[in-house]
Amino acid sequence: MSLDLPAVIADITATMASMEDRGQVATYIPELATVDPAQFGIAIVTADGRVLTGGDADTGFSIQSVSKVFALTLALGKVGDQLWDRVGREPSGNAFNSITQLEHEQGIPRNPFINAGAIVVADVNLGGHEPRVAIGEMLRFVRYLAGDDSITINEAVAVSETATGFRNMALANYMRAFNNVRHPAELVLGSYFHQCAIEMSCRQLALAGRYLMLDGRHPGGGRVISPRRARRINALMLTCGHYDASGDFAFRVGIPGKSGVGGGILAIVPGRAAIAVWSPGLNASGNSCLGTLALEELARRTGWSVFSPPDEGD
Ligand code: GLU
Repeated sequence: MSLDLPAVIADITATMASMEDRGQVATYIPELATVDPAQFGIAIVTADGRVLTGGDADTGFSIQSVSKVFALTLALGKVGDQLWDRVGREPSGNAFNSITQLEHEQGIPRNPFINAGAIVVADVNLGGHEPRVAIGEMLRFVRYLAGDDSITINEAVAVSETATGFRNMALANYMRAFNNVRHPAELVLGSYFHQCAIEMSCRQLALAGRYLMLDGRHPGGGRVISPRRARRINALMLTCGHYDASGDFAFRVGIPGKSGVGGGILAIVPGRAAIAVWSPGLNASGNSCLGTLALEELARRTGWSVFSPPDEGD
């Protein structure tokens, strides 16, 4: 039976609208605490270029840690595999902002998707420039990926995190002691907090993720990254993209994904679809509560788990 994707999206959107437990919005960044939790959006871009949406798919939200995927892509473009001398590629099994593991591992973060790893990536992307140069480069890159110049940074979110991001400041300074952060911590974090404060809708985020579904190609022509690099980034998303709940996400959904505390998740079905879901309420692991449920249901209905044989669902 052929897949009726619009009907699947409509069903999932209706189911999510009826859910009572929507989790809790993040409050440790005060500006994020102001977001209405009663929102849910989904957007799917298929390999043949169709864009399907449901719910609040055109409402902008703070992409937060989803930006780590784009930052990693940029950093690999700058320093290639040398990045892996400074950041590992293993799931952490610890909270996204843990400091204890760093001490045991001599200032080398476990992977680029926990905060410490993303701070090293931001240090690489800073590359001796002023933060505004790196921030501008990141914004231009995301706009190019999405094919949408209207994407902006929410300055209030960046300011809010700058005022309260003591833990990230501690991580950056700690890694500076190991020479794994090479610029002053406030410059690296100035860049990192702005990268996290990029605001996108589900539609824009799914469009920005197309290169990872297309083995590194930009649908507008040319290549963003090599096929090998695209596969490796997808592998990291599957193993490390959901903090210390990455194993559970792979078990339940089976699709590479990266979540953020703004409630967004970017999920990639190689060769088939780039998906963005958003709902601001988080579960106990800090991942979007409804976003995770929606992706679980989508994978079940479509057979898009990367562990499913082609064209077979449940
Ligand atoms: N800017 C957030 C932080 O560093 C991102 C966290 C996240 O989305 O996981 O705490």
